Amino acid sequence: MHKKLFIPGPVEVAPEILQAMAMPMVGHRMPEYAVVHKRVKENLKRLLFTESRVFLATSSAFGVMEGAVRNLVAKRCANFCNGAFSDKWHDVTRRCGKEADAVKVAWGQPITPELVEQTLSSGRYDAITLIHNETSTGVMSPLPEIAEVLRRYPDVVSIIDTVSSMSALKIPVDELGIDCCIFGVQKALALPPGLAVFTASTRALERAKGVEGRGYYFDFLEFAAADEKDNTPSTPCISQIYALDRQLERIFAEGLESRWARHKALAERVRSWVADRGYGFFPDEPYRSLTLTCGRNTKGTDLSALKKKLGAAGFAFDDGYGKIKGETFRIAHMGDMQMMDIEEYLAAIDRELAEL
Ligand SMILES: *Cc1c(COP(=O)(O)O)cnc(C)c1O
Repeated sequence: MHKKLFIPGPVEVAPEILQAMAMPMVGHRMPEYAVVHKRVKENLKRLLFTESRVFLATSSAFGVMEGAVRNLVAKRCANFCNGAFSDKWHDVTRRCGKEADAVKVAWGQPITPELVEQTLSSGRYDAITLIHNETSTGVMSPLPEIAEVLRRYPDVVSIIDTVSSMSALKIPVDELGIDCCIFGVQKALALPPGLAVFTASTRALERAKGVEGRGYYFDFLEFAAADEKDNTPSTPCISQIYALDRQLERIFAEGLESRWARHKALAERVRSWVADRGYGFFPDEPYRSLTLTCGRNTKGTDLSALKKKLGAAGFAFDDGYGKIKGETFRIAHMGDMQMMDIEEYLAAIDRELAEL
């Protein structure tokens, strides 16, 4: 039996998208591929509000997250850490042989503009990594305010992960001055995993030119060169690019404003359910994510038993990530999820909770 996914990634994929992946194959050096590649790229630019270069990489998000530090950190990187994914990004940066510091706040806390200012004012850094929406803790950091600070540091290249937020709210890449915006597709975009999207500003590409050890697979300059021909350096995951093509069409058919409003409504619904049932929240109010809600298990519910029961009923439940497993639970409301799906899920949780 298929368990309907309410975990924060991978998320449920629409049948229409799965069908798009079953289309006949083309060669990536055939003109047919370039047509799809170009259309996808142009639609991504619309979605991201950017005129920067937009590239498609065949990997999960961490491939490009690693690639970005290899391409863009020349001197020293500040890795802002407030959860499992951002902590790991610091580790990855170090493993790439880069000079880097973890600028840590407690899990559940946001990265604030004040912290970014304080860090960058030291003058030690020429790049930062930051996760907009920390999926492990359900915290969304205030990107527009952080962008204000970044504007004062034109020599610092910003590498921003929007894996679990892109398309759920407006993230205008150029207006925010993001040099490299990265996301995988299995979360907020609701596609099967295996494809990552990233942007590179002129400043980012200029930086890459002077950085040694970029490797090959994620060399931004290889991507830029292939992109001139609406192509990728190596064979891309063509089926997934078909799926992304279809998904972008569906996103614009829904309308961006409606999509953003839907995510807001879903978040509000789940938050009120959490409060009504007497649970707390892991993040503080203004920083609660729009795409997943991280509840605090203040009632001491046996979450692993709940997860088993929900699994048997056909729903995949998340009982917390890493060191906050059991202490928290996460309900995803990203991608193509509709209010009907959430109502069905919350009703199922209520049913199972009553029987615990
Ligand atoms: C899931 C996730 C990642 C890791 O992505 P992979 O596709 O598994 O490499 C990175 N950052 C955030 C915010 C995530 O939610």
